[in-house]
Amino acid sequence: MTPEEFRKHAHELVEWMADYMENVEDYPVKSQVAPGEIFNRIPGEAPLQPEPFDSFLKDFKEVIMPGITHWQHPDFYAYFPANTSPPSVLAEMLTSTLGSQCMIWETSPAAAELEEKMMIWLRDLIALPSEFEGVIQDSASTATLAAILSAREKTTGFTVNNDGIASAGTLRVYCSGQTHSSVEKAVKISGIGRKNLVKIPVRDDFSLDPVLLKEAILLDKSKGYIPCCVIATIGTTGTAAVDPIRSIGEICHELGIWLHVDGAMAGTALILPEFQWMLDGREYVDSFVFNPHKWMFTNFDCTAYFVRDASTLIKTFELLPEYLKTRTRGIVNDYRDWGVPLGRRFRALKLWSVIRSYGIEGLREKIRSHISFACNLADMIKSEPDFEMLAPVSISVVCFRFAPTGFSEEQMNALNEKLNHQLNDSGKMYLTHTSLNGKYTLRMVTAQTNVTMEHVKRAWELLKDTARSLE
Ligand SMILES: *Cc1c(COP(=O)(O)O)cnc(C)c1O
Repeated sequence: MTPEEFRKHAHELVEWMADYMENVEDYPVKSQVAPGEIFNRIPGEAPLQPEPFDSFLKDFKEVIMPGITHWQHPDFYAYFPANTSPPSVLAEMLTSTLGSQCMIWETSPAAAELEEKMMIWLRDLIALPSEFEGVIQDSASTATLAAILSAREKTTGFTVNNDGIASAGTLRVYCSGQTHSSVEKAVKISGIGRKNLVKIPVRDDFSLDPVLLKEAILLDKSKGYIPCCVIATIGTTGTAAVDPIRSIGEICHELGIWLHVDGAMAGTALILPEFQWMLDGREYVDSFVFNPHKWMFTNFDCTAYFVRDASTLIKTFELLPEYLKTRTRGIVNDYRDWGVPLGRRFRALKLWSVIRSYGIEGLREKIRSHISFACNLADMIKSEPDFEMLAPVSISVVCFRFAPTGFSEEQMNALNEKLNHQLNDSGKMYLTHTSLNGKYTLRMVTAQTNVTMEHVKRAWELLKDTARSLE
């Protein structure tokens, strides 16, 4: 493709992109295709001869678009959001045009230094102590793996990297039953082993019970196990419960255990001074992760991982093969040593674009509005006698169910499951579920970039009407 052809197609694409952003509501939120439908429409073999870009674009529109679930649709209430925004998209265009591989400082000094500065901006925005240093990772899962590996090395005096896990004794990791599955995955692949992940029961509000945590750790110690890491969550995946960081931190501090805090979703709410209580006890935290690619309008992927002591992280990951030796080593940040992959995308650019475009106040206003939508929705749910709230609302997540009288628990579960599918099949809204104390729980997250209270009200009307027509 010549630069002239590129220019022509790029202009066409930008028109398409702007139209999409304007009209995203016209699409069914959840893709309505059947399994295999898209696969079967794509040729079995790659083309031998070059094809014009126009035929690619035509297929993108006709073959691919029907198989897209529209995460930027304002009526996307499922999972946690993967928000983007126009300033993020524009910066990502520049990133892919530069195509820089930012593994070390020398391979693009601006990428390393902008990343360092953006992590300082974010650290200060979310009120982490100033000794924390940050690095952009691809996902919270990777960051949590980095935390568990760092904890493993620190606990064992940096011996497992060298001697293997068999040398270490039995390490133990603690989290609550509501913790994200990425923790279990990290424990599995760290060599610590899944059966050494201890899931502590939660209190009525689905937050980790620190009294039971301490009991479990002391019991483990008495049996000769080696407590290595506690993972606390602010904003659990199911209900956005907030674990008590101060009480947990005091235990970790007293017993010398690494404390990692997973704030993948709720971390963004820490930019609001009135939500910074969630991280009360921050002085005990060793590592913290949150995802600007969830709630902070920065397109996937962009995870901010912060550590109190960067040297532990670097010591855990560092290797120095001959071809990566440089004259600037030790003077600058070579982020390849701060995580698993060697190769790194220039992700700081989109974060810079987003933060500057919204401004801190603009970001705060959006996040506050999302939280107020959730509170309003909860009020509307509470005012309907045939609906029931199933968890307290902490940020932008509302957990509830349709609970008409005269149904058994089992029938109620079936009814809510049917309701969930029927709503998603309508294409008008998309929500997902969780299970709380055996109850099939509908879960609406009011945190999409484009959602307004009008959307939430309309979705709630649709949900109520659909539910009542099921009976
Ligand atoms: C989404 C989420 C994760 C996983 O995030 P990825 O970036 O997709 O790996 C981990 N923990 C919590 C609490 C989450 O909500």
